[in-house]
This record gives sequence, structure tokens and C-alpha cells, in this order.
Amino acid sequence: MQRFFQKAISLALCGVLVIAIASCVNSAPAAKAETGLYKAGVYEGSGKGNNGPVKVRVSVSTTAVTDITIVSHEETPGISDPARERIPAEIIKTQSLAVDVVTGASHSSQAIIDAVAAALTAAGGDVAMLKSKVVKKNVAIKDVEKNTDVVVIGGGGAGMAAAAAAAQKGAKVILVEKAAALGGNTLASGCAWNAADPEKQGTIRTLSGQVNTLKNVLKMNESDFGDYAGTLTVLKDQIRTYVSGDTTYMFDSVEWHIIQAYLGGKRQDKSGNWISGNFALVKKLCSESLPALKWLESLGVVFTAHLSAPVGAMWTRGHNPTQKISYFDMPSKAIRAAGGEIMLETEAKSLIVENGRVVGVKAMKKDGSQVLLRAKGGVVMATGGFGANASMVAEYNDYWPSIPLDMKTTCVSTVTGDGITMGKAVGARLVGMQFTQLMPTSHARTGQLLDGILVPPQNYVFVNQLGKRFVNEYSERDTLAFAALSQPNGLFYHIADTTMALNANNKPDQAYLDKQVKNNIIIRADTIEELAKKIGIDGATLTETVHAYNACVDAGEDKAFGKNVFGLKIKDAPFYAVPEKPAIHHTMGGLAINTNAQVLDVSGKVISGFYAAGEVTGGIHAGNRLGGNSIADIFVFGRTAGLSAAAAR
Ligand code: ADP
Repeated sequence: MQRFFQKAISLALCGVLVIAIASCVNSAPAAKAETGLYKAGVYEGSGKGNNGPVKVRVSVSTTAVTDITIVSHEETPGISDPARERIPAEIIKTQSLAVDVVTGASHSSQAIIDAVAAALTAAGGDVAMLKSKVVKKNVAIKDVEKNTDVVVIGGGGAGMAAAAAAAQKGAKVILVEKAAALGGNTLASGCAWNAADPEKQGTIRTLSGQVNTLKNVLKMNESDFGDYAGTLTVLKDQIRTYVSGDTTYMFDSVEWHIIQAYLGGKRQDKSGNWISGNFALVKKLCSESLPALKWLESLGVVFTAHLSAPVGAMWTRGHNPTQKISYFDMPSKAIRAAGGEIMLETEAKSLIVENGRVVGVKAMKKDGSQVLLRAKGGVVMATGGFGANASMVAEYNDYWPSIPLDMKTTCVSTVTGDGITMGKAVGARLVGMQFTQLMPTSHARTGQLLDGILVPPQNYVFVNQLGKRFVNEYSERDTLAFAALSQPNGLFYHIADTTMALNANNKPDQAYLDKQVKNNIIIRADTIEELAKKIGIDGATLTETVHAYNACVDAGEDKAFGKNVFGLKIKDAPFYAVPEKPAIHHTMGGLAINTNAQVLDVSGKVISGFYAAGEVTGGIHAGNRLGGNSIADIFVFGRTAGLSAAAAR
């Protein structure tokens, strides 16, 4: 955080320098407040946001800031909206830069404050004074007490699904969300939703290597599959039928999704325990994923025709909403239409238990007022994981050699494990807490998940700082992260050509790529040699690596690293490099639940009135989660939790 502020300050100073130079070019006199606070005029400034610069235009009179317009930004829509609405208004109202950052959008808030500070410096203002000018607010605090049917804690995907499902059953619902906007990690993610959908997948051409992957399943032995043995037997029959027919188009089934989730998640922790995902929960996730998706469609969410494979997904079954924000807007409509209420900037603090049953929640609003909510049907915990709580991650980690406290995270700042702490306090069992997922392909400089070029794994080519490949890029996320962490500084470059870049999962256009290059998020060059030079790698080595990779694509096999599913070759200029590094992404552990999303206590018994869904729960993804399985998880179990709580009212 401190580094962020240092960077933001130095960036703001750079911005000032650029503006000063521009003023000279225009022969404008250097801005200096001769009388009053500012030299009247219009000034521009820039601050460093989460995803790129936030640029503002500020109008000042000699005595006051009169207008602030955000000219451009790349902040996440939804999550950053309150910061963009409130911070400029607050600065104008208080004529101060010591304004409160918005909960859940603190980086976006700070970027706006920095941008305005840069502009005001150019206007001759005393920014140090403006930053120390705290304006006291006289707001009357009013405590709230309400009775309802279902209380949902957390407005990410799981909470929205729970609240909407309960509301549709006629339950009165109140959802409390700590941040100033709905969204959580769900909205900050790529939002791809894994669901076996043979109808859609039957129109996608099979990738080179996928039939062999399926044939290898036929060699697997049921005795290694525990509770999953019966599913493997069914899957083998499906694969035999598929490979004996036309394999031009992609195969998928619920059983293949289940087996991939099992294989992707079964891991040994450092203490030597083998952990697999709970079969009943994994089966429910995979078999109810498509029905849950259709349910969201019925609420108004529209999905693209395109299916994607996020990193570490292991198969192409990712469904994508045309608008990520629709995961929130559409359930919100359903909740409000049924008379439900969404309380933002309201942080749940503890659960109320009476006679062994969870009957309500104590919460606090940002202004300090107390909120007491009593729920007849029960409380759904949907507070997400603890990826933004570095010390909690480090405390529970029993998988990675170490997770340093300053490791970057892709998580929003409000997912700090509150639901796990509240659940533990009422006797809930915690499961799988030792497993944290590191996102191998986070941007090395920004830590962001979505910066760069999100190609599907069949097109990934990773090289270390020596210009050499070091891993099968079509692997699970933990395999990729372990391999990356064993490279110097954990840093590697993802190399792509223009065809790969323009066919990435996020469907970028040329303008997007140009902007990312301009923001120094990705590096571009006309030849591989030039690209190598720009990233400080030996040109001959990188050229040789690219030739060797292309030969693997032609051969359909990779003897060096075992990559077994291939897409495109690297051949079309211009070429791109993205610096990447693992960052904390998803915490697999949390509250133990059953298939009704009821929370279990340490002895495995249901805690009456207490439900949970999404990243706050544990036991589903075991040691490693497949990319795209989280969105399936939160909506399947969120919906179930809402239905269960509504039925209990
Ligand atoms: P999931 O994917 O499981 O839905 P998300 O991370 O998307 O998880 O959403 C979790 C939401 O819960 C976030 O919006 C976060 O701000 C919110 N949250 C976390 N702790 C609390 C709390 N104590 N009270 C209310 N909301 C909370």
C-alpha cells in the first residue's frame, strides 16, 4: 500500500512536470496564484488508478475549485462508480483534498485525489495545505433495527444469487455490503462461468491434443478415484462413444467437468495430507451449473455465443456475460422488485445466536451507526474469501513454500475473511484453509488479473528472463505458479503474436492493445529480436524458443514440457510481451457446508439458521481451483443458500 502511494505521488509529480512543459509550449504564463488560492483557469492532472491513469480536468477561480471532470479512466465499472461520483463532489464541497476514500474503491478514490492534486499544483495551489484541511461533518447518526425473513451478508456473486433466489420465493430479504458498491471479487474477475454445455460446445472445433487427453482418461483406474469412481466409469463410456465417432467438434459432459475438478483439486498439503474436493459438493457444482446459468438468463443476464477457457481451466467451457455488471444489475432488479433491500457501506460484525440458532446479524454503517437485523429464515454468509488479508493468508498457508506479506493480490480490498471469523465464532467448522490459489498470470507490475492479453491456455507461451520456456502452459494454476516462482524473481513473460492477441478471451480490439502498450502494460515490437531487446532478453534465444514452440504446435506434442493442447503458432507481427508474476487470487478454504448450503459445526452437524455460499466456503476446490469454476460455484451455491433460507422462514 505504501509503495502504491509512493508511486502515486511520484506519478502525480510527473504529471505536474508534463503539464508545466505543455504550458511553456503554449506560451502560457507559468501558473501562479498571484492573489487568492489559484490562478483562475482550467488544468489537467493524472493519477494512477488500478488499471491505468485516471485523468481529470479541474476548473478553478482565484479562490475555489469550481468544477472537476473525469476525462478518462480505466477503473472497473460498478466497483469504482461511487468513487468517481463522490470524490470530485466532495472535493468541491469541502474545498479540501483531505476527503474520505470510498470503501471498496480506495485506489480509484486515491487516483482521483492525486489527479486533482496534480492539476491544483499546476494552478499554483498549496496542495500540502489542501491535503491537511480536514472538514468536519455534522451528520446525525441513526441506529437501525429491522425484522426480515433472510439476511444476506456480502454483495458479490454468491450474495446476489442468494438474495435474488430467496426474493423470488417471496421472502423479505436484506443484503448488507461493506463496500460502497456491489461486485466484490466476482466483478473484478474475468467472470467466465464453467458449465458443460454440449449443445454449444458441439459447435466448437476440437483443439489439437484434446482427443488424446480424453483417450488418456480411458487408462485411468477407478481405484484411484474414491467417491468419484462411479463418475469415472460413466465418463469412460461417454469418451469411448465419442472417440469412435466424429471428433471434429468438442466433447464435454457434466461427468468430465466433475472429473477435471477432482483431478485439478486433489493435492497434498505440506503436512502430507491428501485433500480432494467433497464429491457431493463438486457433483452439485458441475451438474447444477448450466441450470443456474439458465436461471440467471431468466433474470435478464445475456451470455455471448463465444465460450472461453480462462488460465488453468483445462477445457473450453467458460460462458461469458455480454456485460459483467449484469451479474449484479439483474439480480438487484429481482431483489428490489420483491421488496428486498440492499444496504451498502454496511459491514456485518457478528452473528446473533439464540438457542443454538442463528437469528440475525449485528452490523455497522460507515458513519458509525449500529444496524441490528433479525432474520426469521436465517442468515446467508457470502463475504468472499480472505485474499486481501495478507496476514491471514500467511497464517493459514500450508501449501506454498511461503506467501510473503507484500505479495500482490488480484482481490478487491474488502475480502478480508470476515465471514470466516464470524462463522468460527459461532462454532462453524473450517475446511481447506491451508490452500490459497496464486494467479500465475497476474501482471508483474500492477498485480492485476485483467491487465495484458488474456489468451486461452492453448495459446499461452511463457518464457523466463533467459528467454526459455519453463512449463507446460496448459497446466493447472498451481503448477504454473510453482514453476513461475522457481524462476528468478518469480517473473516471466507471456509472448504472443498479433493473431493470438486479437483472438484473446477478452476480445480486445486494436485500440485496446494500443492503449495497453501506451500504458506500458504490454510491450510490442515488429520482430521477435526487437521484442527480446525491449524486455532485456537475448534475441537469438527468444527466436529459437519461438521456433521450437511453433514446431511443437505443428507436431501436436511438446517433448520438453509436455504441453498437450495447442492452438495458434507465434508468427504474425507485431509481437507482444506481458511481464507476469503470481499474485494472491482465491482462498480455497472456509466454512464447511452441505449440499443445502447449510453451515456445519466442528462435529459435522448443521448450525440452524446459518447458510453460506461462494468463496467464504471451503471443501469444494480442495488444493487448486480450475479457472472458471468459481463463478459456477458462487451462483450454484448462492442460489441454493437463498432457497434454503427462504424455505426455513
Ligand atoms: P463471492 O465470489 O463468494 O460472491 P465476492 O468477493 O465476489 O465473493 O463478494 C464478497 C462480498 O462480500 C464483497 O463485495 C465484500 O465487500 C463483501 N463483504 C466482505 N466482508 C463483509 C462484511 N463484513 N459485511 C458485509 N459485506 C462484506
